[in-house]
Amino acid sequence: MSESLSNKIAAGEVVEKCASVVKELIENSIDAGANDIKIDLIDSGTKSIKVTDNGSGMDEDDALLCFEAHATSKLLKEEDLFNINTLGFRGEALPSIASVSIVSLKTSNGNTGITYKLEGGKVVSKEKSDLRQGTVIEVKDLFFNTPARLKYLNSLQSELANVTSVIDRAALSHTDIRFTLTNNDKVILKTDGSGNLLKTINQIYGTSVSKKMLKLECENDDYEISGYISLPEVNKSNRNHFITIVNGRVVRNSDLNRVINDAYHKYKPDNRYPIVVLNINVDPTLTDVNIHPSKQDIKLSNFDDLKDMVSKEIEKVLDNHFLGVDASTHDVNLNNIVKKIEPVSEEKTYEEVTELVMDFSVSENDIKEKEDDYNYKEPESDTKPFPKIYPVGQVLGTYIVCHNEKGMYLIDQHAAAERYNYEKYKKAMADPKHETISMLFPMNLEYPKDEFLIIKQHLDFIRSLGIEIEEFGDSSYVVKSHPTWFKEGLEELFVQNVLEKIITMNKNFDLERFNDSISAMMACKASIKANTEISLEEMQKIIDDLETCKNPYNCAHGRPTIIHYPTYELEKLFKRVM
Ligand code: ZN
Ligand code: ZN
Repeated sequence: MSESLSNKIAAGEVVEKCASVVKELIENSIDAGANDIKIDLIDSGTKSIKVTDNGSGMDEDDALLCFEAHATSKLLKEEDLFNINTLGFRGEALPSIASVSIVSLKTSNGNTGITYKLEGGKVVSKEKSDLRQGTVIEVKDLFFNTPARLKYLNSLQSELANVTSVIDRAALSHTDIRFTLTNNDKVILKTDGSGNLLKTINQIYGTSVSKKMLKLECENDDYEISGYISLPEVNKSNRNHFITIVNGRVVRNSDLNRVINDAYHKYKPDNRYPIVVLNINVDPTLTDVNIHPSKQDIKLSNFDDLKDMVSKEIEKVLDNHFLGVDASTHDVNLNNIVKKIEPVSEEKTYEEVTELVMDFSVSENDIKEKEDDYNYKEPESDTKPFPKIYPVGQVLGTYIVCHNEKGMYLIDQHAAAERYNYEKYKKAMADPKHETISMLFPMNLEYPKDEFLIIKQHLDFIRSLGIEIEEFGDSSYVVKSHPTWFKEGLEELFVQNVLEKIITMNKNFDLERFNDSISAMMACKASIKANTEISLEEMQKIIDDLETCKNPYNCAHGRPTIIHYPTYELEKLFKRVM
C-alpha cells in the first residue's frame, strides 16, 4: 500500500468533518502554548480553515516533520500513557489532513520564519516568512482529491454547528486562552481568555444563560470538582451541553452524563437537558484516557464515588435554590434563550442553509453589550429553596397573590393544586396495596371488539390497581369497585381514563409512563380550576400543600406554579430606587 493511500484511509478516520480538522489544529496551537487562537472559516470550513496562533512556532525542520506520517515522538513508552499533558497526537493527524487538502503552513519560532505549501501531502513550495512568532496554518479544499469523501461533509449549517461546538469546548476547558471564530468574515464566537469560567459561559451562551448558572464546588479524597450548572428552566433538546473536563481535557462519558441527567430528573421534562460545565481534577495516575482513539472517553478509578458525589452535589445545589420563575430575569421565550447554531434536521437546499449560516453571527456590539450589563457576580446562593409566603388575595379568580420580605409572589392556583395532587396520585399508583371501595352503582362499559380485547389482555394489571373489573357479555365490562384514593365524584371518570389510556398505549405499554400520565390526567381533573373564587384559608391550604411537594415549581405538565417579583424589581418599577 502506498503512503498516500494509507494516508487517505487514515484521513477518512481522522478528518471526517471540518470540525475534526479544526479540533486537531487548535489542539496543536494549545500544545504550542498559544493564548490567542483565531479560527477563520470560509463556507463553514469546507473551502478553507485557517488557524492563527501566537504559540511557540516551529523551526524549518520541525515544520516539515509534522507532515510526515508517524513522526510523532510522543507516547513512546506505555507509562507515558498515564501522564499525557498535551492534548493532541501532534504529528499523527496532520499528515492525514494534508493528504486530502491543500495546506499552507507559515510558522516562526521567533528566530527564523518559513512558509510551506503542500498539495495532497507533497511539498510544492518553500519560502522564508516574515511572521514574528507563532503559526498560521490554512487547510483549503478539504478532500479535493478524494471526491467520494465529500459526501461525508454535512450541510454547511451542521458543519458550522460542529465547529462551533468544538470551539465552545476548547474555550470552556481553556478559559485562559482567547478564542475567535469567524465564518466568511463574520464573528461567530469570541472569548476573552480572562480565565473566568462564568465569563466564558457568558461569552458562549449569553447573559440570559450565565445569569441562571449556579456554582458547584466539592471534593473527596480523589477528586476535586468545580463548575456551573444551569437552573432547570434553561434547557436544550440534546445533551451536547453536558461538558465534563477532566484535568483540562474535555471528555465524553455516558455514565457521567446519565448521572447528571438523573440528578435533574424531578425538575425537568425527560427530553430536555440542562447546561452543565464541570471541571474535574484528579491525580493523572487514576485516569486512563486512551481507551478510545478519539481520546474523548476516559476511564477513572473509584468512578462510583465520583458519580455519587456529582449526583449528590447537583441535587444539593438545586434543592438549595428557589427554582420558581423569577420575574426579573425571566426571558419570555425560554426556547430562544440559548442562541446557538444547531445542526439542521431536515433536508434543506444549499441556498436555505447558506442563508441560515449567514444569519448567524454576532457583532462586536452584541459582545460589548453582553459584557456591559453583566458583572459576573455569582448568583445569590442564600435563597431559601421554597420560601415561606403569605397569601393576601386573588387576582382574576386564578392567581393567588402572596408576599414576604423578598417581594411579591403569584401562584397559579390550578397549577399548584395540580402539582400536589399529581405527586399524591403518583405515590398512590405506585403503592401495590390498594384499599378499595364498592361503587354505589356498578359501571357498565361497552367497547368495540378490538378495544375490548386490548383491555382483556390487561385485566390482571387493571385489578392490581384496585379496580374490580369483570367481563360482561362479549363486548362489555362491569366495574364494581375502585381504590379509595379516587377522588369523590370523579370515580367513573378515573376508571374510564385508566381503561382509555391502556387502549391508547396498547402494545407500547410502559408502567412508568402509564402511572405518570394517569396521575397527571387525574390531578388536572381533580384540582381547583382557574376562575374560581376561594377564601384566604383555601389559598393557605394550596400553598401549604405545594410546599410539601418534591418539585413545587412546575405543574404536572411542566408549566410554572409560582412567579417571584423581587422587592428590588418592584422598587425599580415605582422609581423608589434608580
Ligand atoms: Zn391542569
Ligand atoms: Zn398542568
